[in-house]
Amino acid sequence: MNSVDLPQTTPKQIQGDILVVDDTPANLALLRQMLSARGYRVRVSRSGELALKSAFAMPPDLVLLDIKMPDMDGYAVCRALKENCHTRHIPVVFLSVVESTHEKVEAFRLGGADYITKPFQTEEVLARVEHQLLVQRQKIQLEREIRDRQRVEAVLRESRALLSGVLNSSLDGVSAFRAVRDGQARIIDFQWLVANPMAAQTVGTTPTDLVGRRLLEVLPEYREIGLFENFVAVVETGKSVEREVYYESPRFSGWLQVVAVKLGNGLTVTVRNITERKQMELALHAANIELQDRANHDGLTQLANRRRFDEYWSQMWEYCARQGQPLSLILSDVDRFKAYNDTYGHQAGDLCLQKVAEALRETVTHPRDLVARYGGEEFAVVLPQTEGAGAIRVAQRLRNAVRDLRIPHKSGGIGKIVTLSLGLSSLVPDERGSPSASDAIAAADLALYRAKSQGRDRLCWQLVRSHSGDRTDTNPSC
Ligand code: GH3
Ligand code: MG
Ligand code: MG
Repeated sequence: MNSVDLPQTTPKQIQGDILVVDDTPANLALLRQMLSARGYRVRVSRSGELALKSAFAMPPDLVLLDIKMPDMDGYAVCRALKENCHTRHIPVVFLSVVESTHEKVEAFRLGGADYITKPFQTEEVLARVEHQLLVQRQKIQLEREIRDRQRVEAVLRESRALLSGVLNSSLDGVSAFRAVRDGQARIIDFQWLVANPMAAQTVGTTPTDLVGRRLLEVLPEYREIGLFENFVAVVETGKSVEREVYYESPRFSGWLQVVAVKLGNGLTVTVRNITERKQMELALHAANIELQDRANHDGLTQLANRRRFDEYWSQMWEYCARQGQPLSLILSDVDRFKAYNDTYGHQAGDLCLQKVAEALRETVTHPRDLVARYGGEEFAVVLPQTEGAGAIRVAQRLRNAVRDLRIPHKSGGIGKIVTLSLGLSSLVPDERGSPSASDAIAAADLALYRAKSQGRDRLCWQLVRSHSGDRTDTNPSC
C-alpha cells in the first residue's frame, strides 16, 4: 500500500484528517482501522517521500510518523514538513520502537509534538492523537482571535489617528468631560477627559495638562456666566445647549459660541470664538437702527419727518377707530417766514426752525403724542386718545411756547417776534372710513388757513362731535 489512501467518510464524521506514515503494512492497517473507527479521516503512506507529497498536496491535521524507515527516516520527513510554510504548523507524533532518551530528544528538537513507543496501545494512541488535535484546534482558534484583534486594533488606531487629526487641526476648542458628583449624586464639577490644542490654548495650557483637571478649578467664571448650570442641565436632561456668551478673562475677552452635548455621564463641549461675527452683527444692528432713524427723522430739526408722520397718523387713526377713542391733529405754520428768511438770511431761518421745533418738542411730553416736521416751516402734532378740549389746551401751549422764545422778527406782525398759526381738528375716527384720515388732515389744514387769514398768531379748530359728523364745532373767532 504505497499510495495515499483516503477513506470515504462524510464531513460530519470527520474529526480530523490524519496522515499515518510507516513502512510496516501491518502497522498501517492497524492504525488506520483504529483511527477510522474513531471517526478520523485517515490516509496512509509507506514511505517518507510519498508522505511528504501527500502532506504538501493537502496538509493533514496531524501526522503519525514512524522514525525508522528505509530510504527517508522519520526525522528527515519531520524536518521537511517543518521547513515548508504550509505544513510547518502540523503536529507530528513520532512512532518508534527506539526508546533511547537521545532519540526522543531529537524528535522534540525537530519539532515533534509527541512520542509514542511501539508496540502501541490503542487507547494511548487515540488519547495522544485526540490531545494533539485539541491543542492544535485551540492554537488555530487562538491565532484567529489574535488576528481578528489585531485587525480591530488597526482599525481603532486608524480612526483614533483620524479623530485626533481632526481635533488637533480644529479651530474650535473641543473638550470632553466626566461629571463629578457628590454623595447625593448631585453634579458638583466636571473633569476633563479630552481637550484639543485649541481648547487648551484658550486656557493657556496644553491638552495633557488639562486632562484630569476640574472645570471649575480652571475656569471658575463658568459658574458666574451660567455655563456650569447649562452643562449640569445637559447631563441631567440629555438636551443639548447652544449659547452665545460674552466672556472676559485675563487671557481672552470676546464672544464665544458654546455647544454642549451629553456624552454618557458627561458631555462634549465645543467652544468657538465668534467675536468678529458678533462685532459685525452689532455694527450691522447699529447701522440698521441709524438707517431707520434717518428714514424717520428730519435732519434739520431732529423731529419725526413727514414719512413718519404719515405712518403714525394712519396707525393711530386705525387704533382710535377700533377703540372708539378720539384723535386730534394740530397743524401749525410759522408766520411770515419767507420775510424772516429775507431779513435775516436762510441760515438764521434754519436756526429759527430748530428753536421752534425744540419748543414744540418740549411742550408735547406724552409718549404717545408725536411732533413732526410736516413741511418747510410747518409742524404737525398727533394726539391720540385726546378729545378736542385737551387738544386745544395743547395747541395753546404750543403757540405760547413759540411766542415765549421771543425770537425777533422785524417784519413780523404785532410784537415783532416769531409766532405760530395753528389749525386743529379732532374727532372719533370712523372705522367705515367717513370722514377719512385725510379728511381730518384737510379739516386741520382748513382751520390753519382760517387762522392765517384772520390775522395769524392764533388757533382755529374744527371739532366733529359725532360719528356721522353731523355736529361740528368751530371756535367763534374763526
Ligand atoms: P405765512 O405767514 O402765510 O405762512 O407766510 P410765510 O412767508 O411763512 O409762507 P410762505 O409759504 O410764503 O413761505 C414759507 C417760507 O418758508 C418759504 C421758504 O423759503 C421757507 N422755508 C421752508 N423750509 C425752510 C427751511 O428749511 N429753512 C429755511 N430757512 N426756510 C425755509
Ligand atoms: Mg407754509
Ligand atoms: Mg408760514
